[in-house]
Amino acid sequence: MNLPPEFLTGLGNCLPSNLFSLRPSELEAYSRDESSQPAQLPLAVVWVETAEQTAAVLGLCNRFRVPVTARGGGSSLEGNSVPSPGSVALSLERMNKVLEILPQDFQCRLQPGVVYDNLNRQLARHGLFFAPGPSSGDVATIGGMVGNNAGGLNALRYGVTRNHILRLQVVLADGSIVWFGTQAMKTSSGFDLVQLMTGSEGLLGIVTEIILRLHGLPERKTALAQFADLDAAAQVVYEVMSSGILPGALELVDAASIRHINRYKGWDWPEVPTLIFEFHGTPSGIAEEVEIVREICVHLGAVRFEIAETPARRDQLWAGRKEITNAEKSLYPGFIMLKGDIAVPLSQYASTVRYAGALGKKHSLAISIFGHAGDGNIHWHTLVPPGDPAALANGELASAELIRHAISLGGTVTAEHGIGLAKREFLVEEHGAAVDVMKKIKQALDPNGILNPGKMFLEKD
Ligand SMILES: Cc1cc2nc3c(=O)[nH]c(=O)nc-3n(C[C@H](O)[C@H](O)[C@H](O)COP(=O)(O)OP(=O)(O)OC[C@H]3O[C@@H](n4cnc5c(N)ncnc54)[C@H](O)[C@@H]3O)c2cc1C
Repeated sequence: MNLPPEFLTGLGNCLPSNLFSLRPSELEAYSRDESSQPAQLPLAVVWVETAEQTAAVLGLCNRFRVPVTARGGGSSLEGNSVPSPGSVALSLERMNKVLEILPQDFQCRLQPGVVYDNLNRQLARHGLFFAPGPSSGDVATIGGMVGNNAGGLNALRYGVTRNHILRLQVVLADGSIVWFGTQAMKTSSGFDLVQLMTGSEGLLGIVTEIILRLHGLPERKTALAQFADLDAAAQVVYEVMSSGILPGALELVDAASIRHINRYKGWDWPEVPTLIFEFHGTPSGIAEEVEIVREICVHLGAVRFEIAETPARRDQLWAGRKEITNAEKSLYPGFIMLKGDIAVPLSQYASTVRYAGALGKKHSLAISIFGHAGDGNIHWHTLVPPGDPAALANGELASAELIRHAISLGGTVTAEHGIGLAKREFLVEEHGAAVDVMKKIKQALDPNGILNPGKMFLEKD
Protein backbone atom coordinates (compact mmCIF):
# COMPACT_ATOMS: atom_id res chain seq x y z
CA MET A 1 0.00 0.00 0.00
CA ASN A 2 1.39 3.43 -0.97
CA LEU A 3 0.25 7.01 -0.58
CA PRO A 4 -0.94 8.51 -3.92
CA PRO A 5 1.68 10.82 -5.55
CA GLU A 6 -0.87 13.71 -5.57
CA PHE A 7 -1.26 13.30 -1.80
CA LEU A 8 2.51 13.50 -1.29
CA THR A 9 2.67 16.62 -3.49
CA GLY A 10 -0.13 18.13 -1.36
CA LEU A 11 1.79 17.29 1.83
CA GLY A 12 4.86 19.00 0.41
CA ASN A 13 2.73 22.07 -0.36
CA CYS A 14 1.36 22.40 3.17
CA LEU A 15 4.43 21.43 5.26
CA PRO A 16 8.18 22.10 5.14
CA SER A 17 10.02 18.93 4.12
CA ASN A 18 11.50 18.43 7.62
CA LEU A 19 7.99 17.93 9.06
CA PHE A 20 7.15 14.69 7.28
CA SER A 21 9.02 11.51 6.55
CA LEU A 22 8.64 8.25 4.65
CA ARG A 23 11.95 6.85 5.97
CA PRO A 24 11.59 3.20 7.11
CA SER A 25 13.38 3.92 10.43
CA GLU A 26 10.88 6.69 11.27
CA LEU A 27 7.90 4.55 10.19
CA GLU A 28 9.22 1.79 12.45
CA ALA A 29 9.68 4.18 15.40
CA TYR A 30 6.01 5.25 15.19
CA SER A 31 4.56 1.78 14.55
CA ARG A 32 3.65 0.76 18.12
CA ASP A 33 2.61 2.00 21.52
CA GLU A 34 3.24 0.46 24.98
CA SER A 35 0.57 -2.23 24.55
CA SER A 36 1.24 -5.80 23.51
CA GLN A 37 -0.68 -5.16 20.26
CA PRO A 38 1.23 -5.99 17.05
CA ALA A 39 3.13 -3.11 15.43
CA GLN A 40 1.61 -1.49 12.31
CA LEU A 41 3.82 0.64 10.07
CA PRO A 42 2.22 3.96 9.08
CA LEU A 43 2.70 5.09 5.46
CA ALA A 44 4.14 8.43 6.61
CA VAL A 45 4.98 10.27 9.81
CA VAL A 46 3.97 13.94 10.08
CA TRP A 47 5.07 16.28 12.89
CA VAL A 48 2.77 19.31 13.06
CA GLU A 49 3.83 22.53 14.80
CA THR A 50 0.63 24.63 14.54
CA ALA A 51 -3.15 24.22 14.42
CA GLU A 52 -3.09 25.61 10.86
CA GLN A 53 -0.67 22.89 9.71
CA THR A 54 -2.85 20.28 11.44
CA ALA A 55 -5.89 21.67 9.62
CA ALA A 56 -4.09 21.55 6.26
CA VAL A 57 -2.98 17.93 6.83
CA LEU A 58 -6.45 16.81 7.91
CA GLY A 59 -8.08 18.59 4.96
CA LEU A 60 -5.70 16.76 2.63
CA CYS A 61 -6.22 13.37 4.33
CA ASN A 62 -9.98 13.87 4.18
CA ARG A 63 -9.83 14.66 0.46
CA PHE A 64 -7.75 11.55 -0.31
CA ARG A 65 -9.49 9.36 2.34
CA VAL A 66 -6.14 8.69 4.04
CA PRO A 67 -6.53 7.59 7.70
CA VAL A 68 -4.83 9.61 10.44
CA THR A 69 -3.73 8.32 13.85
CA ALA A 70 -2.86 11.10 16.30
CA ARG A 71 0.03 10.49 18.65
CA GLY A 72 1.44 12.19 21.72
CA GLY A 73 3.92 10.15 23.77
CA GLY A 74 2.74 6.81 22.36
CA SER A 75 2.43 5.35 25.89
CA SER A 76 -1.08 3.90 25.48
CA LEU A 77 -1.61 0.40 26.84
CA GLU A 78 -4.43 -0.85 24.60
CA GLY A 79 -3.20 -0.10 21.06
CA ASN A 80 -4.92 3.33 21.04
CA SER A 81 -1.99 5.02 19.28
CA VAL A 82 -0.83 2.13 17.08
CA PRO A 83 -1.25 3.54 13.54
CA SER A 84 -4.39 2.41 11.71
CA PRO A 85 -3.56 0.36 8.58
CA GLY A 86 -2.62 2.64 5.65
CA SER A 87 -2.49 5.73 7.86
CA VAL A 88 -0.43 8.83 8.48
CA ALA A 89 0.96 8.91 12.04
CA LEU A 90 0.28 12.51 13.11
CA SER A 91 2.69 13.42 15.91
CA LEU A 92 1.77 16.34 18.17
CA GLU A 93 4.98 16.02 20.21
CA ARG A 94 6.55 19.20 18.73
CA MET A 95 3.57 21.28 19.88
CA ASN A 96 5.05 21.26 23.37
CA LYS A 97 4.78 24.81 24.70
CA VAL A 98 3.02 26.02 27.82
CA LEU A 99 1.53 29.19 26.31
CA GLU A 100 0.18 30.98 29.38
CA ILE A 101 -0.11 30.35 33.14
CA LEU A 102 -2.95 32.21 34.86
CA PRO A 103 -2.31 31.78 38.62
CA GLN A 104 -5.19 34.07 39.62
CA ASP A 105 -7.61 31.87 37.67
CA PHE A 106 -5.99 28.51 38.54
CA GLN A 107 -5.72 27.84 34.80
CA CYS A 108 -3.11 27.38 32.09
CA ARG A 109 -3.19 27.32 28.28
CA LEU A 110 -0.91 24.88 26.51
CA GLN A 111 -0.19 22.89 23.38
CA PRO A 112 -1.10 19.17 23.37
CA GLY A 113 2.46 17.82 23.17
CA VAL A 114 3.49 19.13 26.60
CA VAL A 115 4.60 16.19 28.79
CA TYR A 116 2.78 15.83 32.14
CA ASP A 117 5.86 16.01 34.42
CA ASN A 118 7.31 18.98 32.46
CA LEU A 119 4.04 20.86 32.88
CA ASN A 120 3.99 20.24 36.62
CA ARG A 121 7.61 21.39 36.97
CA GLN A 122 6.64 24.71 35.36
CA LEU A 123 3.42 25.02 37.36
CA ALA A 124 5.20 24.34 40.67
CA ARG A 125 6.99 27.71 40.34
CA HIS A 126 3.53 29.29 40.63
CA GLY A 127 2.40 27.02 43.51
CA LEU A 128 0.06 25.12 41.18
CA PHE A 129 -0.31 21.60 39.77
CA PHE A 130 -2.31 19.55 37.24
CA ALA A 131 -3.48 16.74 39.46
CA PRO A 132 -4.45 13.39 37.85
CA GLY A 133 -0.98 11.81 38.33
CA PRO A 134 -0.53 9.05 35.72
CA SER A 135 2.38 6.73 36.54
CA SER A 136 3.60 7.44 32.98
CA GLY A 137 3.96 11.18 33.73
CA ASP A 138 7.48 11.29 32.27
CA VAL A 139 6.16 10.45 28.77
CA ALA A 140 2.38 11.04 28.68
CA THR A 141 1.43 14.25 26.86
CA ILE A 142 -1.57 16.33 27.86
CA GLY A 143 -3.10 15.75 24.39
CA GLY A 144 -2.75 11.98 24.90
CA MET A 145 -4.23 12.30 28.39
CA VAL A 146 -7.23 14.07 26.83
CA GLY A 147 -7.40 11.33 24.15
CA ASN A 148 -7.58 8.56 26.77
CA ASN A 149 -9.17 10.53 29.63
CA ALA A 150 -6.19 9.44 31.71
CA GLY A 151 -6.36 9.11 35.47
CA GLY A 152 -3.78 8.26 38.06
CA LEU A 153 -2.76 8.33 41.69
CA ASN A 154 -4.40 11.63 42.60
CA ALA A 155 -7.65 11.21 40.65
CA LEU A 156 -9.43 10.06 43.83
CA ARG A 157 -9.27 13.55 45.34
CA TYR A 158 -9.09 15.78 42.26
CA GLY A 159 -10.71 13.80 39.44
CA VAL A 160 -9.38 12.41 36.16
CA THR A 161 -8.35 14.42 33.10
CA ARG A 162 -11.95 15.18 32.11
CA ASN A 163 -12.52 17.01 35.41
CA HIS A 164 -9.71 19.45 34.50
CA ILE A 165 -10.47 20.47 30.92
CA LEU A 166 -12.12 23.86 30.44
CA ARG A 167 -11.53 24.55 26.74
CA LEU A 168 -10.18 22.64 23.76
CA GLN A 169 -9.15 23.88 20.34
CA VAL A 170 -9.97 21.04 17.96
CA VAL A 171 -9.23 20.43 14.28
CA LEU A 172 -12.12 18.46 12.81
CA ALA A 173 -11.80 15.79 10.12
CA ASP A 174 -12.65 18.30 7.36
CA GLY A 175 -9.80 20.58 8.44
CA SER A 176 -11.91 23.23 10.23
CA ILE A 177 -10.62 24.67 13.52
CA VAL A 178 -13.11 25.17 16.38
CA TRP A 179 -12.98 25.98 20.10
CA PHE A 180 -15.14 24.00 22.54
CA GLY A 181 -15.94 24.99 26.16
CA THR A 182 -15.56 28.05 28.37
CA GLN A 183 -13.08 29.39 30.93
CA ALA A 184 -15.89 29.84 33.46
CA MET A 185 -15.70 27.31 36.31
CA LYS A 186 -19.27 26.20 35.65
CA THR A 187 -21.64 26.42 32.72
CA SER A 188 -25.04 25.13 31.59
CA SER A 189 -24.60 26.48 28.09
CA GLY A 190 -25.17 24.03 25.24
CA PHE A 191 -23.97 20.46 24.72
CA ASP A 192 -20.70 19.69 26.49
CA LEU A 193 -18.40 19.11 23.52
CA VAL A 194 -15.28 19.26 25.72
CA GLN A 195 -16.48 16.16 27.55
CA LEU A 196 -17.37 14.49 24.25
CA MET A 197 -13.81 15.00 22.96
CA THR A 198 -12.21 13.81 26.21
CA GLY A 199 -11.67 10.05 26.00
CA SER A 200 -12.46 9.93 22.26
CA GLU A 201 -9.03 8.37 21.47
CA GLY A 202 -8.41 10.52 18.39
CA LEU A 203 -11.65 9.36 16.69
CA LEU A 204 -13.51 12.70 16.66
CA GLY A 205 -10.90 15.41 16.08
CA ILE A 206 -7.33 16.47 16.82
CA VAL A 207 -6.76 18.63 19.90
CA THR A 208 -4.33 21.48 19.16
CA GLU A 209 -4.70 23.68 22.27
CA ILE A 210 -5.97 23.06 25.80
CA ILE A 211 -7.05 25.25 28.72
CA LEU A 212 -6.68 23.31 31.96
CA ARG A 213 -8.12 23.82 35.40
CA LEU A 214 -5.42 23.60 38.10
CA HIS A 215 -5.14 23.19 41.87
CA GLY A 216 -2.92 24.86 44.48
CA LEU A 217 0.04 22.67 45.47
CA PRO A 218 -0.79 21.15 48.87
CA GLU A 219 1.47 19.88 51.67
CA ARG A 220 1.77 16.07 51.35
CA LYS A 221 2.39 13.15 53.67
CA THR A 222 2.67 9.48 52.69
CA ALA A 223 1.84 6.45 54.84
CA LEU A 224 1.93 2.71 54.30
CA ALA A 225 -0.26 0.09 56.02
CA GLN A 226 0.01 -3.69 55.68
CA PHE A 227 -2.58 -6.32 56.56
CA ALA A 228 -2.63 -10.07 57.08
CA ASP A 229 -5.55 -10.42 54.68
CA LEU A 230 -7.29 -8.60 51.88
CA ASP A 231 -10.61 -8.24 53.70
CA ALA A 232 -9.01 -6.10 56.41
CA ALA A 233 -7.35 -3.87 53.78
CA ALA A 234 -10.63 -3.50 51.89
CA GLN A 235 -12.51 -2.68 55.09
CA VAL A 236 -9.94 0.06 55.83
CA VAL A 237 -10.59 1.59 52.39
CA TYR A 238 -14.32 1.70 53.17
CA GLU A 239 -13.83 3.05 56.72
CA VAL A 240 -11.45 5.80 55.55
CA MET A 241 -13.72 6.88 52.69
CA SER A 242 -16.74 7.01 55.01
CA SER A 243 -14.84 8.94 57.72
CA GLY A 244 -15.05 12.16 55.70
CA ILE A 245 -11.36 12.03 54.81
CA LEU A 246 -10.60 12.27 51.09
CA PRO A 247 -6.99 11.10 50.64
CA GLY A 248 -4.83 12.54 47.86
CA ALA A 249 -4.16 8.90 46.92
CA LEU A 250 -5.21 5.49 48.26
CA GLU A 251 -3.56 2.58 46.50
CA LEU A 252 -3.71 -1.19 46.95
CA VAL A 253 -0.73 -3.43 46.17
CA ASP A 254 -1.33 -7.19 46.52
CA ALA A 255 1.02 -9.76 48.05
CA ALA A 256 2.25 -11.00 44.63
CA SER A 257 3.23 -7.46 43.59
CA ILE A 258 5.07 -6.90 46.90
CA ARG A 259 6.90 -10.19 46.34
CA HIS A 260 8.07 -8.89 42.92
CA ILE A 261 9.11 -5.54 44.40
CA ASN A 262 11.06 -7.30 47.20
CA ARG A 263 13.00 -9.42 44.69
CA TYR A 264 13.63 -6.45 42.35
CA LYS A 265 14.72 -4.03 45.08
CA GLY A 266 16.22 -6.50 47.54
CA TRP A 267 13.70 -5.38 50.19
CA ASP A 268 12.07 -7.50 52.87
CA TRP A 269 8.60 -5.96 53.16
CA PRO A 270 6.00 -8.40 54.55
CA GLU A 271 4.45 -10.00 51.46
CA VAL A 272 0.84 -9.20 52.37
CA PRO A 273 -1.90 -6.85 51.05
CA THR A 274 -0.63 -3.28 51.35
CA LEU A 275 -2.27 0.14 51.23
CA ILE A 276 -0.36 3.32 50.42
CA PHE A 277 -1.97 6.61 51.41
CA GLU A 278 -1.15 10.17 50.49
CA PHE A 279 -2.66 12.97 52.55
CA HIS A 280 -2.98 16.46 51.08
CA GLY A 281 -3.82 19.75 52.78
CA THR A 282 -2.40 21.97 55.52
CA PRO A 283 0.14 20.55 58.04
CA SER A 284 -2.37 20.52 60.91
CA GLY A 285 -5.16 19.04 58.76
CA ILE A 286 -2.81 16.33 57.53
CA ALA A 287 -1.63 15.49 61.06
CA GLU A 288 -5.25 15.02 62.17
CA GLU A 289 -6.12 12.85 59.14
CA VAL A 290 -3.02 10.67 59.58
CA GLU A 291 -3.98 10.02 63.20
CA ILE A 292 -7.55 9.03 62.29
CA VAL A 293 -6.35 6.71 59.54
CA ARG A 294 -3.71 5.17 61.80
CA GLU A 295 -6.44 4.40 64.37
CA ILE A 296 -8.64 2.81 61.68
CA CYS A 297 -5.75 0.66 60.42
CA VAL A 298 -4.66 -0.46 63.91
CA HIS A 299 -8.27 -1.18 64.89
CA LEU A 300 -8.66 -3.40 61.80
CA GLY A 301 -5.48 -5.34 62.54
CA ALA A 302 -2.71 -3.68 60.50
CA VAL A 303 0.53 -5.63 60.90
CA ARG A 304 2.52 -2.49 60.01
CA PHE A 305 1.75 1.23 59.78
CA GLU A 306 4.49 3.63 58.77
CA ILE A 307 4.50 7.35 58.05
CA ALA A 308 7.26 8.56 55.72
CA GLU A 309 9.14 11.17 57.74
CA THR A 310 11.52 12.30 54.96
CA PRO A 311 11.07 12.96 51.22
CA ALA A 312 13.53 10.11 50.50
CA ARG A 313 11.47 7.64 52.55
CA ARG A 314 8.27 8.92 50.87
CA ASP A 315 9.79 8.22 47.44
CA GLN A 316 10.82 4.76 48.63
CA LEU A 317 7.31 3.89 49.85
CA TRP A 318 5.88 5.07 46.52
CA ALA A 319 8.45 3.01 44.62
CA GLY A 320 6.65 -0.01 46.10
CA ARG A 321 3.69 0.96 43.91
CA LYS A 322 5.18 2.79 40.96
CA GLU A 323 7.89 0.26 40.09
CA ILE A 324 5.71 -2.85 39.84
CA THR A 325 5.86 -2.84 36.03
CA ASN A 326 9.64 -2.30 35.95
CA ALA A 327 10.11 -5.05 38.55
CA GLU A 328 8.06 -7.56 36.57
CA LYS A 329 9.70 -6.67 33.25
CA SER A 330 13.10 -7.22 34.81
CA LEU A 331 12.17 -10.43 36.70
CA TYR A 332 10.34 -12.01 33.76
CA PRO A 333 12.31 -11.02 30.63
CA GLY A 334 10.58 -12.01 27.40
CA PHE A 335 7.27 -12.75 29.13
CA ILE A 336 4.08 -11.30 27.61
CA MET A 337 2.41 -9.02 30.12
CA LEU A 338 -1.39 -8.98 29.71
CA LYS A 339 -2.76 -5.84 31.38
CA GLY A 340 -6.18 -4.85 32.59
CA ASP A 341 -7.85 -1.79 34.05
CA ILE A 342 -11.39 -2.45 35.31
CA ALA A 343 -13.29 -0.42 37.89
CA VAL A 344 -16.16 -1.62 40.07
CA PRO A 345 -18.44 0.03 42.64
CA LEU A 346 -16.49 0.36 45.91
CA SER A 347 -18.60 -2.24 47.75
CA GLN A 348 -17.45 -4.85 45.19
CA TYR A 349 -13.74 -4.02 45.34
CA ALA A 350 -12.52 -6.70 47.75
CA SER A 351 -14.64 -9.48 46.24
CA THR A 352 -13.41 -8.54 42.74
CA VAL A 353 -9.75 -8.62 43.83
CA ARG A 354 -10.41 -12.05 45.38
CA TYR A 355 -12.18 -13.14 42.17
CA ALA A 356 -9.09 -12.15 40.17
CA GLY A 357 -6.85 -14.18 42.51
CA ALA A 358 -9.13 -17.22 42.15
CA LEU A 359 -9.05 -16.87 38.34
CA GLY A 360 -5.26 -16.98 38.49
CA LYS A 361 -5.41 -20.27 40.43
CA LYS A 362 -8.14 -21.71 38.16
CA HIS A 363 -6.10 -21.02 35.01
CA SER A 364 -2.66 -21.67 36.63
CA LEU A 365 -1.54 -18.11 35.90
CA ALA A 366 0.70 -15.63 37.72
CA ILE A 367 -1.60 -12.62 38.20
CA SER A 368 -0.53 -9.59 40.22
CA ILE A 369 -3.08 -7.01 41.30
CA PHE A 370 -2.72 -3.37 42.31
CA GLY A 371 -4.61 -0.16 41.68
CA HIS A 372 -6.42 2.92 42.78
CA ALA A 373 -8.42 1.28 45.58
CA GLY A 374 -10.11 4.51 46.67
CA ASP A 375 -11.98 4.81 43.38
CA GLY A 376 -12.60 1.11 42.77
CA ASN A 377 -9.97 0.79 40.00
CA ILE A 378 -8.18 -2.57 39.69
CA HIS A 379 -5.11 -3.06 37.48
CA TRP A 380 -3.73 -6.52 36.87
CA HIS A 381 -0.78 -8.03 35.08
CA THR A 382 -0.79 -11.61 33.87
CA LEU A 383 2.72 -12.83 33.14
CA VAL A 384 2.69 -15.32 30.27
CA PRO A 385 5.86 -17.29 29.46
CA PRO A 386 7.19 -16.82 25.93
CA GLY A 387 6.30 -19.48 23.35
CA ASP A 388 3.39 -20.90 25.34
CA PRO A 389 0.21 -20.37 23.29
CA ALA A 390 -1.88 -22.40 25.76
CA ALA A 391 -0.87 -20.11 28.65
CA LEU A 392 -1.53 -17.04 26.46
CA ALA A 393 -5.00 -18.34 25.59
CA ASN A 394 -5.63 -19.01 29.29
CA GLY A 395 -4.45 -15.50 30.21
CA GLU A 396 -6.77 -13.93 27.66
CA LEU A 397 -9.63 -16.10 28.88
CA ALA A 398 -8.98 -15.05 32.48
CA SER A 399 -8.87 -11.35 31.46
CA ALA A 400 -12.18 -11.66 29.61
CA GLU A 401 -13.78 -13.42 32.61
CA LEU A 402 -12.61 -10.68 34.96
CA ILE A 403 -13.82 -7.89 32.67
CA ARG A 404 -17.23 -9.55 32.27
CA HIS A 405 -17.42 -9.97 36.04
CA ALA A 406 -16.76 -6.22 36.48
CA ILE A 407 -19.40 -5.29 33.88
CA SER A 408 -21.93 -7.60 35.57
CA LEU A 409 -21.36 -5.66 38.83
CA GLY A 410 -22.08 -2.31 37.16
CA GLY A 411 -18.40 -1.63 36.55
CA THR A 412 -16.37 -0.74 33.47
CA VAL A 413 -13.91 -2.51 31.17
CA THR A 414 -11.51 0.42 31.42
CA ALA A 415 -11.21 3.07 34.12
CA GLU A 416 -8.40 5.05 32.48
CA HIS A 417 -6.51 3.26 29.68
CA GLY A 418 -9.23 3.42 27.01
CA ILE A 419 -10.56 0.83 24.56
CA GLY A 420 -8.00 1.09 21.73
CA LEU A 421 -7.69 -2.21 19.86
CA ALA A 422 -7.43 -4.61 22.78
CA LYS A 423 -10.72 -4.00 24.58
CA ARG A 424 -13.08 -3.44 21.60
CA GLU A 425 -15.10 -6.62 22.13
CA PHE A 426 -16.30 -5.33 25.50
CA LEU A 427 -17.64 -1.92 24.39
CA VAL A 428 -21.07 -3.26 23.41
CA GLU A 429 -21.16 -5.57 26.45
CA GLU A 430 -20.73 -2.51 28.67
CA HIS A 431 -22.81 0.06 26.77
CA GLY A 432 -25.35 -1.93 24.69
CA ALA A 433 -27.41 0.26 22.35
CA ALA A 434 -25.51 3.37 23.48
CA VAL A 435 -22.72 2.24 21.12
CA ASP A 436 -25.09 3.05 18.20
CA VAL A 437 -25.34 6.62 19.52
CA MET A 438 -21.52 6.79 19.73
CA LYS A 439 -21.25 5.60 16.13
CA LYS A 440 -23.76 8.23 14.93
CA ILE A 441 -21.66 10.93 16.61
CA LYS A 442 -18.54 9.52 14.93
CA GLN A 443 -20.33 9.49 11.56
CA ALA A 444 -21.50 13.10 11.99
CA LEU A 445 -18.03 14.44 12.86
CA ASP A 446 -15.96 12.18 10.60
CA PRO A 447 -18.18 11.04 7.71
CA ASN A 448 -15.25 9.58 5.73
CA GLY A 449 -13.97 7.66 8.74
CA ILE A 450 -10.38 8.96 8.49
CA LEU A 451 -9.74 9.52 12.22
CA ASN A 452 -8.05 6.52 13.88
CA PRO A 453 -10.29 3.95 12.11
CA GLY A 454 -10.46 0.44 13.53
CA LYS A 455 -10.10 1.65 17.12
CA MET A 456 -12.80 1.49 19.82
CA PHE A 457 -15.51 -0.11 17.59
CA LEU A 458 -15.45 -3.61 16.09
CA GLU A 459 -16.65 -3.71 12.48
CA LYS A 460 -19.47 -6.10 13.43
CA ASP A 461 -20.83 -3.83 16.21
C1 LIG B 1 4.30 2.46 32.59
C2 LIG B 1 2.96 3.08 32.24
C3 LIG B 1 2.17 3.56 33.26
C4 LIG B 1 0.92 4.12 32.95
N1 LIG B 1 0.16 4.63 33.98
C5 LIG B 1 -1.02 5.21 33.69
C6 LIG B 1 -1.81 5.77 34.75
O1 LIG B 1 -1.44 5.78 35.92
N2 LIG B 1 -3.01 6.32 34.41
C7 LIG B 1 -3.44 6.35 33.12
O2 LIG B 1 -4.52 6.87 32.87
N3 LIG B 1 -2.71 5.84 32.10
C8 LIG B 1 -1.52 5.28 32.35
N4 LIG B 1 -0.77 4.76 31.32
C9 LIG B 1 -1.28 4.83 29.94
C10 LIG B 1 -0.86 6.11 29.15
O3 LIG B 1 0.40 6.56 29.60
C11 LIG B 1 -1.89 7.23 29.28
O4 LIG B 1 -3.11 6.86 28.69
C12 LIG B 1 -1.43 8.56 28.65
O5 LIG B 1 -2.37 9.56 28.89
C13 LIG B 1 -1.21 8.48 27.15
O6 LIG B 1 -0.56 9.67 26.74
P1 LIG B 1 0.32 9.71 25.41
O7 LIG B 1 0.77 11.10 25.20
O8 LIG B 1 1.36 8.67 25.44
O9 LIG B 1 -0.81 9.37 24.36
P2 LIG B 1 -0.77 8.45 23.05
O10 LIG B 1 -0.59 7.03 23.43
O11 LIG B 1 0.17 9.01 22.06
O12 LIG B 1 -2.28 8.70 22.54
C14 LIG B 1 -3.37 8.34 23.33
C15 LIG B 1 -4.66 8.40 22.51
O13 LIG B 1 -5.01 9.76 22.29
C16 LIG B 1 -4.98 10.09 20.90
N5 LIG B 1 -4.33 11.39 20.83
C17 LIG B 1 -3.06 11.71 21.13
N6 LIG B 1 -2.86 13.02 20.99
C18 LIG B 1 -4.05 13.55 20.58
C19 LIG B 1 -4.49 14.86 20.25
N7 LIG B 1 -3.67 15.91 20.31
N8 LIG B 1 -5.76 15.02 19.84
C20 LIG B 1 -6.61 13.98 19.76
N9 LIG B 1 -6.26 12.72 20.06
C21 LIG B 1 -4.98 12.51 20.48
C22 LIG B 1 -4.22 8.95 20.23
O14 LIG B 1 -4.66 8.73 18.90
C23 LIG B 1 -4.57 7.78 21.13
O15 LIG B 1 -5.82 7.25 20.78
C24 LIG B 1 0.47 4.19 31.59
C25 LIG B 1 1.30 3.71 30.57
C26 LIG B 1 2.53 3.16 30.88
C27 LIG B 1 3.39 2.67 29.75
